[in-house]
Amino acid sequence: MDLGISGKRALVCASSKGLGLGCARALAEAGVDLVMNARGSEALERAAAGIRQDFGVSVTTVAADVTSDDGRAALLKAAGEVDILVTNAGGPPPGMWTDWDREDFIKALDANMLTPIALIKALVPGMMDRGWGRVVNITSVSVKAPIAVLGLSNAARTGLTGYVAGTSRQVAAKGVIMNNLLPGLHATDRTVSLDKAASEASGKPAAEIRAAKVAAIPAGRYGTAEEFGATCAFMCSQFAGFMVGQNILLDGGATTTTM
Ligand code: NAP
Repeated sequence: MDLGISGKRALVCASSKGLGLGCARALAEAGVDLVMNARGSEALERAAAGIRQDFGVSVTTVAADVTSDDGRAALLKAAGEVDILVTNAGGPPPGMWTDWDREDFIKALDANMLTPIALIKALVPGMMDRGWGRVVNITSVSVKAPIAVLGLSNAARTGLTGYVAGTSRQVAAKGVIMNNLLPGLHATDRTVSLDKAASEASGKPAAEIRAAKVAAIPAGRYGTAEEFGATCAFMCSQFAGFMVGQNILLDGGATTTTM
């Protein structure tokens, strides 16, 4: 399927691995030139080289922490005008509700709420002026159904979701389409480290933890970064122009809700 976005330019944050990389690769497959980002340059350069080789699009890399003011400034300078913004960053650490102080919340809000908002504020006005744009925020299933050990994520991402619900409806008339993409459990480094933390907390082997999680997913497995990326690319496509302010959940059916 031709997504109609060949030749567009996208900034995909936190994209050297995992879900961000899945999005970058799917956009590149649709012919989109990329600005990719991560803190570590080695995996970032490897991912970018793979994309250039596989899809022949132009890829600019920026090794920077997207959650810091300096990192974002470097990223925005390199990005220039972009048509597509995919916001992403690492998720907050797990813990108990009693563990977190003000500073922990400020860090989580900075990373998973205020960073995407700052990027939206910087890049959406240009998209509106040019009459076309797409924003996909990678959030989490935790905005639909809280994950007890991820209280920081539950809080910060729900704040972003409220912001996007209002903002998406203010920019749609100018051709800028903004939505959230909610991962349930996907096979990435993040789930490996969360399964490891659960294993250490419970004393059970990580494989047992993972098997119990998989058993609770109607699809019978974790999702893949490729599936996630393909959904993101559709949400950035010409065909997504009537999808405004939605929260698209990819969780293999694990969250039992009617809507
Ligand atoms: P991942 O496999 O750990 O990959 C994270 C990517 O983001 C890496 O490329 C990492 O590279 C980069 N990154 C992390 N922090 C960054 C920062 N401050 N600035 C720039 N780049 C940064 O994680 P993932 O599974 O793809 O998860 C992506 C997001 O989805 C996270 O927020 C996660 O909490 C959320 N999520 C994931 C799942 C899941 O099942 N995988 C489920 C729900 C929500 P560097 O380390 O080199 O910076």
